[in-house]
Amino acid sequence: PKSEITKIRGENLTPALLTYYKNHILINQGYMQWLFDEEGRRFLDLFGGIVTVSVGHCHPKVVQALDEQNRLLWHTTNIYLHPKIHEYAEKLISKFPADSNLKVVYFVNSGSDANDLAVLMARMYTKRFDIISLRNAYHGASPYLMGLTSLSSWRYQVPSGFGMHQAVNPDVYKGPWGGSNCRDSPVQTDRQCDCSSGSCEAGDNYVEQLEDLIRHSCPKEGIAAFFAESIQGVGGTVQFPKNYLSRAFDLVRSKGGVCISDEVQTGFGRTGTHYWNFQGHGVTPDIVTMAKGIGNGFPLAAVVTTPEIAATMGKALHFNTYGGNPLSCAVGSSVLDVIEEDNCQQISHDIGTHLLEELSKLRDQFDYVGDVRGKGLMIGVELVADKKTKKPLDAEKVTKIWEDCKDMGVLIGKGGLHGNVLRIKPPMCITKEDADFSIAVLRKSLEANL
Ligand code: PMP
Repeated sequence: PKSEITKIRGENLTPALLTYYKNHILINQGYMQWLFDEEGRRFLDLFGGIVTVSVGHCHPKVVQALDEQNRLLWHTTNIYLHPKIHEYAEKLISKFPADSNLKVVYFVNSGSDANDLAVLMARMYTKRFDIISLRNAYHGASPYLMGLTSLSSWRYQVPSGFGMHQAVNPDVYKGPWGGSNCRDSPVQTDRQCDCSSGSCEAGDNYVEQLEDLIRHSCPKEGIAAFFAESIQGVGGTVQFPKNYLSRAFDLVRSKGGVCISDEVQTGFGRTGTHYWNFQGHGVTPDIVTMAKGIGNGFPLAAVVTTPEIAATMGKALHFNTYGGNPLSCAVGSSVLDVIEEDNCQQISHDIGTHLLEELSKLRDQFDYVGDVRGKGLMIGVELVADKKTKKPLDAEKVTKIWEDCKDMGVLIGKGGLHGNVLRIKPPMCITKEDADFSIAVLRKSLEANL
């Protein structure tokens, strides 16, 4: 029962675990876009286990692939050949633009693993140390990567000057880009713009600031790598002004650094128009990291890079016991097939477009809805106290709106620097009826909390 589980969680699990809702839900089954609690109550899952369940909970084809591999072989570590990893590597690489030279894959087990490895690769390749990431960024939870994330509550609260923030990360800097939160950015910009629409051209300032940052913060050896999501996920579905990423990539490369795209949330067709969202920015990264949707919930992640960068890693350095194990490769391979067979990318595009249109109507109707943004099934709804200044709606109100949606059967994510952005990133099997049901529920919740 729920009370017993809550007791065990309190006594035997780390208090650092985030429990999403105040009034807990106990989920014990899932099927496609649906989750079921212990009483059989059905919830529409618009968050997919934090943007991870890409093709649907317990998708029958993925379950079948896992079952078949389950009976054959689980684990050898990559000291012997096994067919699955080779079949899967080839298939995954075929998803990259043919002219990109992104040809070499390393399999690991989580997004943090992947990004840690990307940092290491960039440093090995450039023989430099300094990494720049962007405001609103989230790249993982290892001591390395905490320095790349932008919000202190996403890191551990270690006293500054003493803990890992200082010890591990004096080499890591946050860049200027602030997206929808740039208004209260400590890096002042004199050009105010509606950046969050993603169509704003006012990127000049941000590129200049990035150049400044490289000049002043990495003066000795120069920049090793620039790290960016192509739409910032945890940071609140923040999009970049048009051309910002391509200009930033050009700048970083002109200074001898490499460019890393974190496609952990945005890959595998989720944004609709492209398989990888960096393609929509007209850029080709030197290193791409991926996790979450790659395994539909199974622990699997990867780093893809060029043969030149891979070569500098040498043979001896990379060892990961579970990376590329037969089970995860079987799952990953079937997920790639299902994305094609079930037209997931098209669904992301079509249902995403429909959701954005309907959510924009809510934005026009409700004062609380300050911004609606995103691409495909990667959508953010920013709740505000004041539409003009975009002052965030206070946390309690946001929570009430969001908990009411849950009580009406729709599970939504939450994020952004101020925790006021609702995140809609469902499995890519959602239907138009599901989308309309979600909009109706959100509308009711907004009305009830006026
Ligand atoms: N990169 C991005 C963009 C993410 O959203 C996350 C997780 N939220 C990570 C990396 C880290 O992934 P993991 O939790 O699997 O380590």
